[in-house]
Amino acid sequence: MSRSGSCLCGAVSYTLSETPEKCGVCHCSMCRKWTGGVFVAFMTAPGTVTLAGEENLNVFTSSEWAERASCSKCGSSMFYRVTAPGQEQGVYHMGLGTLDDASGITLGQEIFIDKKPDSYSFAGDTHKMTEAEVFAMFAPQD
Ligand SMILES: [Zn+2]
Ligand SMILES: [Zn+2]
Repeated sequence: MSRSGSCLCGAVSYTLSETPEKCGVCHCSMCRKWTGGVFVAFMTAPGTVTLAGEENLNVFTSSEWAERASCSKCGSSMFYRVTAPGQEQGVYHMGLGTLDDASGITLGQEIFIDKKPDSYSFAGDTHKMTEAEVFAMFAPQD
C-alpha cells in the first residue's frame, strides 16, 4: 500500500511505494532551527520516493554530508538527505508531518537526546542515542 504527502501549499508532493513502519526524532540544534520545533522523520530508500514539483524545492546544504529541502513557496520542511558516499547516501528522512496519513507509524528512536530542550519529552520506550553515540556510529571505520 502506498502513501502520499505534500508541503503545506501543495507545490511539492510525493508518493511512497513502501509504507514506513517507524519514525524517529532528532533533537539536534540544526533540526530544531530548520523546523522551528522538532524534526520527526521516517526513512525511505532512494528508489521508493517519487517527487512531484521538485522544481519548487529549496535545497540547502546544511553540512558536508547532508542537505535539507524545503518548499520554496510555503517553507515547509520536506526532507533531510545524506549526500556523503556510503550506505546512507540518497536515503530520505522525510518529515512525518508532510504525510497525508501518518497513522500506524510508531516512534522508534530519538537521537541527540542530550540536546533535547527541557520543555518537552516523548512518551513511550524509544531507543535513545546521544550526540557522541550518533557520531561514533557514523564515523569512518578503519
Ligand atoms: Zn509548499
Ligand atoms: Zn538533527
